[in-house]
Order: sequence, then structure tokens, then C-alpha cells
Amino acid sequence: MQKIDVFDTTLRDGEQSAGINLNTSEKLEIAKQLEKLGVDVMEAGFPASSQGDFEAVKKIAQTVQSSIVTGLARAVKSDIDTSWDALKYGAEPHLHIFLATSPIHMTHKLKKTPDQVVEIAVESVKHAKKHFPLVQWSAEDAFRSDPDFLVRIVEKVIQAGATTINLPDTVGYATPAEYGAMFNYLKNNVKSIDKVKLSAHCHNDLGMAVANSIAAIQNGADQVEATINGIGERAGNAALEELAVALHIRKDVYQYETGIHFQEIKRTSQLVSQLTGMAIQANKAVVGKNAFAHESGIHQDGMLKDRSTYEIITPELIGETSNQLVLGKHSGRHAFKNKAVELGFDLTDEKINDAFKAFKALADKKKQISEDDLYVILTDQQIQEDDTPVYELKSVQVQYGNGSIPTASVSVKNPEGELLQEASTGSGSVEAICNTLERLVKGKVHLLDYRVTSIGKGRDALGEAVVNLTYNGKSSTGRDVAQDVLEASAKAYLNAINRQIVNERNRSFAKSV
Ligand SMILES: [Zn+2]
Repeated sequence: MQKIDVFDTTLRDGEQSAGINLNTSEKLEIAKQLEKLGVDVMEAGFPASSQGDFEAVKKIAQTVQSSIVTGLARAVKSDIDTSWDALKYGAEPHLHIFLATSPIHMTHKLKKTPDQVVEIAVESVKHAKKHFPLVQWSAEDAFRSDPDFLVRIVEKVIQAGATTINLPDTVGYATPAEYGAMFNYLKNNVKSIDKVKLSAHCHNDLGMAVANSIAAIQNGADQVEATINGIGERAGNAALEELAVALHIRKDVYQYETGIHFQEIKRTSQLVSQLTGMAIQANKAVVGKNAFAHESGIHQDGMLKDRSTYEIITPELIGETSNQLVLGKHSGRHAFKNKAVELGFDLTDEKINDAFKAFKALADKKKQISEDDLYVILTDQQIQEDDTPVYELKSVQVQYGNGSIPTASVSVKNPEGELLQEASTGSGSVEAICNTLERLVKGKVHLLDYRVTSIGKGRDALGEAVVNLTYNGKSSTGRDVAQDVLEASAKAYLNAINRQIVNERNRSFAKSV
């Protein structure tokens, strides 16, 4: 069976989605999990876009060992040089350069003639090859480009040293037959195309990203680009877990395999959802909450007699185990640490101590602690960044009665270290908290979306709040977990504000270097 390489772009194309802004530790956490998942290449970010992105890509390149780490660059020298500074630490430094090739993009966006575009592409690849052994060149909007122009430019960039050619359907417009035909055409018309890897990159605007990617594979693509949970620009990218599982379950038809470790799919999906604040739709293929639920009586009856009657994928394949209760109130630090190591966490003694304190506090309120709870506690410790002063919630109190006006009083420590207090009313408890917090933070806040979900099952489950807002005109998503949803809401609100503060600081730093 032919092996297909999986190129993950959760941290670049996925992170580009509206409202997602991960900090460096969160990106690193996802990168480590992607390595466990067995992706061949991971795109860690766009190093020249901001100082924050640069630092994150560098950290990931220094940490990840068994996947190739790449970053995105425009076809300009300064982008390429900046990317080298971030990516040179990788075991096999890899750069991803893109340039638009469709008439619409060349005319309106680049304002260049096709000849000029060819020249810029060739120059950028030659420059990249001075540093990078591996250079992937992407023809942005390839699907809407003239096929013969594609043949011409691809031939030139291969001569210039490109090692992978990516042909994206940037706007998600292709049908499977058309997208496959494009790969077939290039395969048959580009000289020395067999010397390079061919890659597919599909967007899901018409819900065909996975089908299009598979059509590309059947027509000669060696690599597919995808994101966890299908997150990404607009309707998102091809979902990595769907692609990998579809190729695996229907290998009788496709005859391809990937290096994905299926057992890590569930955990990766949950981590990405948790850290990005992007919920997974319940009926989503492979990783949705209901993906393995059988509701109708006839189905349930069939399942009891033989699972294969209605089940084509088992939950065990993707690492979904019945969520055992693992630790309780009386578990000691040693048992806690062992469990953390077993779950794959590598924390300093100080962080283990902090996590253990959080565990004890939770165990006081909740009889038994599940694996899901532990993941949340330990991940939160792992992604703790302590260098930037931000807003910190000190206390929150809410007065609520169905006959009275909800009132919240909140105290926070501001980035300057001062303790501030305010009180305000609202039409509900959450609104009262938000109104109070808006008075406490400097700047204009507009709440866009607010969501509370439970982690795990049972009435004492942890509550997770996700707040999407604009702060001084820029959108940001914050999240937090607490036993009480009102406390989680207040913390998530501040978390969104804090991310914006850290981002602003990174941006002004980027301008000065
Ligand atoms: Zn894309």
C-alpha cells in the first residue's frame, strides 16, 4: 500500500479562523500532541507575521523531533530569512512559500503579469534553497488558475529547487472530479513532476474538502493538508481525522495508508477544541459526541446482537475509552504525578505542585475525578504563561433572585498591579458579571458570543465557559474552566481581554524589530 503523507496546518490555517488566538504555550502543547498523532509535517505558523508567531514557530521547531516542522512565508526575501531564523532548529528545516497564480488573484491582488509572477516564484524558491533543504511551493488559488500556466510555473519552480508542489483549492470551489483532473493534468504534463512530492490543500466551503483531497490522492497527490476538527478559514479545511479514518476504513477501495496513530485522534481533537474554544458539532464525523451513539430502537437492538450491524468505526479505534474515574479525594501527590506521566504530561515539580493543589480543591467538591477532569487541570498548568502582566480575577459575587435585579460585584488586579473593585447590574447573572468587568477593563468591549458546556458527565462536572468578544475593535476568544459556571464565565471574559493585551504587545514589538 502506498503511504500518503499528512501535512497538518491546524496551527497556521486553523489558527487563522476568526477569533482564535493561541499563545505560545498552547501552540506548543498542540504541536506535541500532533507529533504523538504521527503527522509527517506540521505547519507551526507564519513566522514573519508577528513576533508572537515567530517565537511560537521557533519553540516548536526546537521541541518537535519526529515530525517535520514548517512555516508559511510570502515570496519575499525578508519573510524567507525571518522564517529561517525560526525554523533552522528543526531536524529537517522545511519552508512553505506561496504565490497566487489565478488570473483573479494576479490581476487584483498582486497586480502583476503572469511573466512577473513566474519570475518572483523562481527567485523566491532559489533564495529559500540557500537555507532550506526542503521547500514546498504553493500556487495559491491553483484550482482557478489556467492549467497551462500552472504547468509552466510548476516546471520552473521545480527547476529552481522546490521539493514539494502544493495545488490548493483556496476558495473551496472544486468538485472531486475537477480537482482530481487538475492533478492528473499536471502529473501528465509537467516535466520531472515525479521528482517532487505533490500536495493537496482543500477548503470546505461546499462540504467537499475531504472528498476533494481523496480525489487528489487517486490522481497522484502524495501529501494531503488538513486540520484537526477541520478548523480553518471560513468553512474550514479538510478534517485530518476524517481523511485518515476514511482512508483506513475503506482501504479495500483506496489502497492507501497514512502514518496517523488512530489511538491519539480523540485526545488531539479534544485538546484543539479546548484550547481554541471552537466547539465540535455533536454530529461531526469521527469525533462528534454522537458519532458512536445509537438512538433508534431498531439500531440499539441490532447493536446488542452484533456491533457490526450498525457500526463501521469503533470508538476504540480513535482512542475513545469509557471515561473511567481515576482518582479520588484521598489520592496522594505520588499517585497524581504517576497519573500525569501516564497521560503523557511532562511538568516541572513546581507545576505538578500547582496542578495537585487544583486537583485537591476540585476533589473537595467532587467525589471522583475523571480522566477528562485531569486533562483539563494538567493542560491548564502546562499552558500557564507567567511573564506578561494581565488582568487577574480576585473575587466575584453575584446576587440573584427571580424577583430582583441581578447584581455582581467583582474585584480584579489590573496589569499595573492595582486592585480594582466594581459592582453593576444586568438582566441576568452573566450579564451582570460582564457589565461589571467592562467597567474594570480599560477599553471598549462588545460581546459577540458566549457558551457554557460541561466537561465529562454528571451533575458535579466541571463547567467550561467560552467568551468571544471584541476589545477595542479586535476580536478575541477566551476560555476557562471552573466548578462554577459563573466563575468560569468571569475568568473566560478576562482571558479574552488578556489575549488581546498580549497580542498587542507582540505586535508593537514586531514593528520595532
Ligand atoms: Zn488554506
